[in-house]
Amino acid sequence: MQLSSKILIGMVLGMMLGLGLNFMSGGNPEQTPLIAWLVEYIFDVVGQIFVLSLKLLVVPLVFVSLVCGSASMGEDVKMGRIALKTISLYLVTTAIAISLALTFANIIDPGVGINTTEVANFAANPTPSFKEVLIGIFPSNPIKAMSDGNMLQIIVFAILVGVAILQAGESGQATLRGFRKINDVIMRMVTILMHFAPYGVFCLLAKLFTYQGFSAIINLALYFGTMVLVLFLHASVIYSSLFALLTRLNPLTLFKNMRPALLFAFSTASSNATMPITLNVARTRVGAHNSIASFTIPLGATVNMDGTAIMQGVATVFIAQAYGLDLSMAEYLAVIATATLASIGTAGVPGVGLITLSMVLQQVGLPVEGIGLIIGVDRLLDMLRTTVNVSGDGMVTAVVAESEGLLDRDVFNDLSDQDEYQKADAG
Ligand code: ASP
Repeated sequence: MQLSSKILIGMVLGMMLGLGLNFMSGGNPEQTPLIAWLVEYIFDVVGQIFVLSLKLLVVPLVFVSLVCGSASMGEDVKMGRIALKTISLYLVTTAIAISLALTFANIIDPGVGINTTEVANFAANPTPSFKEVLIGIFPSNPIKAMSDGNMLQIIVFAILVGVAILQAGESGQATLRGFRKINDVIMRMVTILMHFAPYGVFCLLAKLFTYQGFSAIINLALYFGTMVLVLFLHASVIYSSLFALLTRLNPLTLFKNMRPALLFAFSTASSNATMPITLNVARTRVGAHNSIASFTIPLGATVNMDGTAIMQGVATVFIAQAYGLDLSMAEYLAVIATATLASIGTAGVPGVGLITLSMVLQQVGLPVEGIGLIIGVDRLLDMLRTTVNVSGDGMVTAVVAESEGLLDRDVFNDLSDQDEYQKADAG
């Protein structure tokens, strides 16, 4: 059986078991000792170990593969061009995402008639200034950047090492050979981990659905529905047409190739934890060359969050409507600008999009405590928006690789569920 089918089965069984346990405990799993024990000591333990092992690979994988990638890119001009293309595509797709969200939220009006008196407490954090953000991209200590998992600083350092390797003659070449070997070993670790995925995913979803009843969703059905609709449209219509237009390749093949990464994104609700799989999939199934994918994927997992931007667009309109406040055209434009920045500033871990939403609300003078209204359904939406976030990274990677002549069409069109190591083993 194909690995992605196994992961899918793990997901579905986990959800069903979770819902069954939620039902059996009468919606109170914490009060039912056997179920509480099962969830806390089996599902939660296995699920957490699984996510931790994924995260474990992120820093070494990004650093080593980007050193190899930038060293094999050759000239600085080419690197600049690739960076420019990637960042432009990330920004354009995010702006489209929010505009789509604002349009649909205004047509559907999900917030009209919502009761705002029972709002949970939600306090905003101060946001850093643009100057601080810009300076913060540059590391003063690579080890600290790695131990903090600061992705942008790691990217800057890795590119610097890659460029220096290129310019350092024979020593550089010897170093590069070493890095390539380490890269092979780390990619192998990703493959090993992927084989545990069906069980990890099963436990994550079983725990989530045991605790997550559906009552919160029913109360906010229109908000939930608007969000699902816009997320779906963005991935299926916008990504597909952009991809087909820019590469003349079949977008369905892209999504099929991306499937393992999308399933991981859904189950973990974290672009960051999914990154080792996204990178593996981009290289071995989508067929993007490492020199492109090792740059675009970590960057995308850190700054490109179209799903999060969509949530922030719909949520802003929802909160404005719930409090009976009107937004002017200028305020809508401000929402597009701030939500683009807020989604860039959102870390790829569960639930952070909701925290950076306070930036957008403050910008247009909406009550930040309105976030309390939507917290109850956010975890499920987080899973969906993270899936969109990760699809966006994959789509842009394929477009940039294709435009540079660095997309292997044979790999892209081969839909068998094997990565390069499985193929090597079989051969
Ligand atoms: N969970 C999202 C991600 O990792 C971020 C967010 O919107 O909360 O991509």
